[in-house]
Amino acid sequence: VPEGLEAEIWRQELALTVGRTIIDVWVDERVAPPSFVDLVAAVTITGIRRSGKVVLIDTDGPTIGLHFGMTGRVIVDGEARIEQLEYASGLDRPEWDRLRLFTAGNFAPAVRLNDPRRLGHISIDPDLSHLGTDIFDLTARSLGEALGQRRTAVKTALLNPRVVAGLGNLCVDEVLWWAGISPHRPANSLDSIEAELLADVTHRRLRIMLQRGGSTMGTLSPEVRRTCPACERDGSPLQRDRICGRTSVWCPGHQR
Ligand SMILES: [Zn+2]
Repeated sequence: VPEGLEAEIWRQELALTVGRTIIDVWVDERVAPPSFVDLVAAVTITGIRRSGKVVLIDTDGPTIGLHFGMTGRVIVDGEARIEQLEYASGLDRPEWDRLRLFTAGNFAPAVRLNDPRRLGHISIDPDLSHLGTDIFDLTARSLGEALGQRRTAVKTALLNPRVVAGLGNLCVDEVLWWAGISPHRPANSLDSIEAELLADVTHRRLRIMLQRGGSTMGTLSPEVRRTCPACERDGSPLQRDRICGRTSVWCPGHQR
């Protein structure tokens, strides 16, 4: 966390700011390009987009890119829709603010980027042309083609933003569990039926998790990931492995 799902929730939240003019800006200079404040002072927000895990604030000047690491969240008009953070304390301390955008008529910041670990950053006019198909645009064909070119573990491939943009660690484990595919399988060993199933499961499960509130709302919840109980589907003990430097929770019983 944050993953593309969280970024999608924040995109929806940030839509509230479209049409407003930024009248004051404060930024943590360690996470933003030089002269960021000068570039975005007095611009009007014209639209909010998302590309993978990056949230894009379009203005009548430059586009502002919000890039998240393992922690961080966006607070719009003082409300944080995502309260629970798996890797952070859940506390909201002003000293963790990396960005504050003030708009006319509001004493409090309209937009705050709060990030305890400071792993994310802010960009101006980011080039996102290297990103693969977005999580919500995935098709059996695009996924099959992207995986077919890779010999790495399917988990590693799915975490690569050039393959799929916006899938993070929790969602990859979740969709592989639902599709019954082992995270250790070489990506190019999936046949077209498996790729179709994986694309279909991703399509359905991500929408359900989005409605429930984000990437921690899956079958493999943070609690399940911590305790590794019996698999809900076949009763096998869930297993925890390290793949691509990330903790992977999966079921050796039904994921093949
Ligand atoms: Zn199982």
